[in-house]
Amino acid sequence: MPTIFEQIISGEIPADFLYRDEEIVAFRDINPAAPVHVLIVPVHPIPTVDDVADQDLQLVGRMIGVARDIARSEGIAEDGYRLILNCRDHGGQEVLHLHLHLLGGRPLGPMVARR
Ligand code: AMP
Repeated sequence: MPTIFEQIISGEIPADFLYRDEEIVAFRDINPAAPVHVLIVPVHPIPTVDDVADQDLQLVGRMIGVARDIARSEGIAEDGYRLILNCRDHGGQEVLHLHLHLLGGRPLGPMVARR
């Protein structure tokens, strides 16, 4: 079964794309948690951060570069923003296709709920 992000990348499911190259796509999150909420996703479907191989690390670095550039073009770089990579159950990962969340446009509050 292809992940929902593979279906977005192939065009089966529509999305609001902000960036696309052979290795990486970025599109707006369908259920935004902040005024700017963009997902940066590798075209090749790596399931989780734990599945990232050493040879993928350059790609993951490029994902951060894409997030940096989108933050600038969305006008949130100066005020700041948050990048999140959720991993598996305790990380709150719902879609098993690696993705970097770019969130900003308002103060985001504490990084994690403390209890
Ligand atoms: P995570 O919990 O880290 O796996 O995040 C998955 C994210 O994918 C959530 O923020 C969802 O709102 C988002 N999402 C799910 N389906 C879609 C979709 N069709 N288009 C855009 N974003 C989506």
